[in-house]
Amino acid sequence: MTLFTIAAAVSAAPRKRAACSNGSSANDERCCIWFDVLDDINGPGGLFDGGECGEEAHESLRLTFHDAIAFSPSLGGGGADGSIMAFPMETQFDASIGLDEIVEEQRPIALRHNVIQFAGAVGVSNCGGGPRLQFLAGRSNDSQIAPDPRYVSLTATASHLIPLPTSSVDDILARMGDAGFSPAEVVALLASHSVAAQDHIDPGIHGSPFDATPSTFDAQFYVETLLKGTAFPGNGHHIGEAKSPPSGELRHASDDLLARDSRTSCEWQSFVNDQASMVAKFAAAMAKMAVLGQNPKQLVDCSEVIPVPSKAASQVAHLPAGKTLDDIEGSCQATPFPTISADSGPETSVAPV
Ligand code: CA
Ligand code: CA
Repeated sequence: MTLFTIAAAVSAAPRKRAACSNGSSANDERCCIWFDVLDDINGPGGLFDGGECGEEAHESLRLTFHDAIAFSPSLGGGGADGSIMAFPMETQFDASIGLDEIVEEQRPIALRHNVIQFAGAVGVSNCGGGPRLQFLAGRSNDSQIAPDPRYVSLTATASHLIPLPTSSVDDILARMGDAGFSPAEVVALLASHSVAAQDHIDPGIHGSPFDATPSTFDAQFYVETLLKGTAFPGNGHHIGEAKSPPSGELRHASDDLLARDSRTSCEWQSFVNDQASMVAKFAAAMAKMAVLGQNPKQLVDCSEVIPVPSKAASQVAHLPAGKTLDDIEGSCQATPFPTISADSGPETSVAPV
């Protein structure tokens, strides 16, 4: 037997699973602790109070992105390292206003575990139809402060490290490209807006969501952003806002543009009748996001701790009641907008989160 065949025989031996104190088992004993954190945050009275896909879940997902993306190979920052919790200044960046609340809610847990990525993955798994994201544990609690957009020159990449609702498509694609993401991956990452709401663009309509189903990880966001914008949901126009259907939804100006730009519109439209592709591509892009600035080889794959999300009721998006395909601004030149049906009944408005 050569050395090579001995090595192959050794690696083929089944790995013994570690027994965890709560009765479950894990591929690596270092994952056991995360079952306890899961019980903590998804239990009654925990961060997600019984496993809800509510505001805390939405904001926890947003937090993973804002911690990770404020990073540039040329300008620095530690990527997905928890710096947004360690350095209060980061929640004062324009794009991250309001995240101080979820940071403080997570902090008691984070003092024991670097919890940002875990909370984001658990939070989105609480949303029906959601992805089961990869979760890599073992991040150091040392982090590097993200470059302050006020003091670094970003002319080569964009005006802000974290894209803003006011950012142009050119800026968003340049900035995200600098961090290693393609235009298609930018579109996929925006599936997060299917389970999201705004508080700070128009504070007068706190909790107004970006689609009609903010507790379901579905493709409604990609349909509803393509509806003709007819009015602002609150008291007139606010910076970073585009007109939306008059339904209580708020539309980011940048989402309005990305849905209609020739570089992104076909990928955008492709998710309308292929939710499985949306979920798979979102999960793949999030796996990249979660290791920005990290060495994945030094982390432990504890994905098995993340709960399996419930399925979405429908795999195909629909038009809101009262709308027809004529209300869609189909923007993909290569492929016509898919034929989807409308909900029955009169037009409805969307409740705040
Ligand atoms: Ca960071
Ligand atoms: Ca949704």
